[in-house]
Amino acid sequence: MQDIDVLIVGAGPAGSTLSHFLLKEGIDHLLIDKASFPRDKICGDGITVDVINVLKRIDPELPLKFAKTSDILPSWGLSLNGPKGQNLRVDLKGELPIAPFFTARRIDLDQFLLNELSTQEHFFTECSLTRLERNEKGIRASLSHKGESKSVQCKIVIGAEGEKPIVTKLLGLDHYREREHLMAAIRIYHENVKGFHPNNHLEFFFDKNLLPGYFWAFPLSNNQANVGLGMVSAHISKNKINLKKVFEEVKVSNPWIKPMFEEAITLETTKGWGLPNMTKKRLIAGDNYALIGDAGGFIEPLTGKGIGPGMMSARIVSEHILEALTKKEYNLIRYHDHMYRYYNREIKIGYTLQKSFNYNWILNPFINVLNWAPILKYGKDKMVRDFSNWI
Ligand SMILES: Cc1cc2nc3c(=O)[nH]c(=O)nc-3n(C[C@H](O)[C@H](O)[C@H](O)COP(=O)(O)OP(=O)(O)OC[C@H]3O[C@@H](n4cnc5c(N)ncnc54)[C@H](O)[C@@H]3O)c2cc1C
Repeated sequence: MQDIDVLIVGAGPAGSTLSHFLLKEGIDHLLIDKASFPRDKICGDGITVDVINVLKRIDPELPLKFAKTSDILPSWGLSLNGPKGQNLRVDLKGELPIAPFFTARRIDLDQFLLNELSTQEHFFTECSLTRLERNEKGIRASLSHKGESKSVQCKIVIGAEGEKPIVTKLLGLDHYREREHLMAAIRIYHENVKGFHPNNHLEFFFDKNLLPGYFWAFPLSNNQANVGLGMVSAHISKNKINLKKVFEEVKVSNPWIKPMFEEAITLETTKGWGLPNMTKKRLIAGDNYALIGDAGGFIEPLTGKGIGPGMMSARIVSEHILEALTKKEYNLIRYHDHMYRYYNREIKIGYTLQKSFNYNWILNPFINVLNWAPILKYGKDKMVRDFSNWI
């Protein structure tokens, strides 16, 4: 049986980022994933500035290397399209040294992060976690690696397995999946979508038939686009909404979306996935364990952004793992407090706006006020200041 300090379950952005930080500290660990890589993950493929910040902390050269990778598209702005056709557009080209957003198919982003791990010896693919047992030395994990059973003994296990919880289940903990704090979204890759801004803006559409959800169209390399829509699960089940049907209806009925798709080609069947929101305070750490990324429910409630928070949670937990191993005290509860302190503001604002966007009569004036020239200028200047600090 292999003896290690840390077992990371899941090699998405959260798990692979943690592996980077543990390698930097020389912490003995194993990163496992049940998939074989490169692998797809249903996502909007929108990369936000917090991702760039974490890449920089892994290695100051990494953001530039990432930006130069083929198939990764810099995006210099975003646009909010209101139910009445109001358009709020922010373009930051020329204001920052590197684009504040990117789009990268997850098959490319996740592989980029894994390729950058300086050693692959501690990374097992096609390796599923099947059992966790507490013992006097910490936790013994049973794995199925390419069909063979294995066990590892570790001091700390990190759940980075995404939206479908396994670590919490196997440890007998509550894994919280209330519909009020969960979103569902679908993604369909398209080709030849027209009307994107030349600086590759991320386009968000708030259609009155979709509220409190939204439709997105993000440009990708090779004239392709990531298109989808997301909504709070409680609303979907209460109103018996079929996301795929609504998506097709909005695509041909919304006067601002329709022209974009007149010559578009659908590249895949509709694919859906869940998004656990950070609006519910869950217990994400305790004796010998912590949960990061989607496994900990770290998706921002308004935009559905989870890659940046997932990578940030990995960075933050790495500090607490180092402390735990140094002190030989393996309770990681301070990581729990740290994360909720760190995201306190984002949770409050995101949740309030998510709830407000239930109503047309709030959303319409909200977008109009934001679009008022002095407020737009203030907002843009603030974005430039904040983003400059991050990149
Ligand atoms: C439709 C949609 C659109 C989205 N759009 C965006 C967006 O534009 N921008 C953004 O920032 N976020 C977006 N998100 C959220 C984002 O996809 C997630 O927050 C992000 O993938 C979380 O990363 P993670 O590493 O925590 O988990 P994941 O990326 O889900 O990775 C988890 C890994 O764990 C592995 N695993 C699972 N179970 C086991 C097991 N038993 N044993 C071993 N390995 C296991 C899986 O194979 C997987 O590789 C979107 C989500 C959806 C559903």
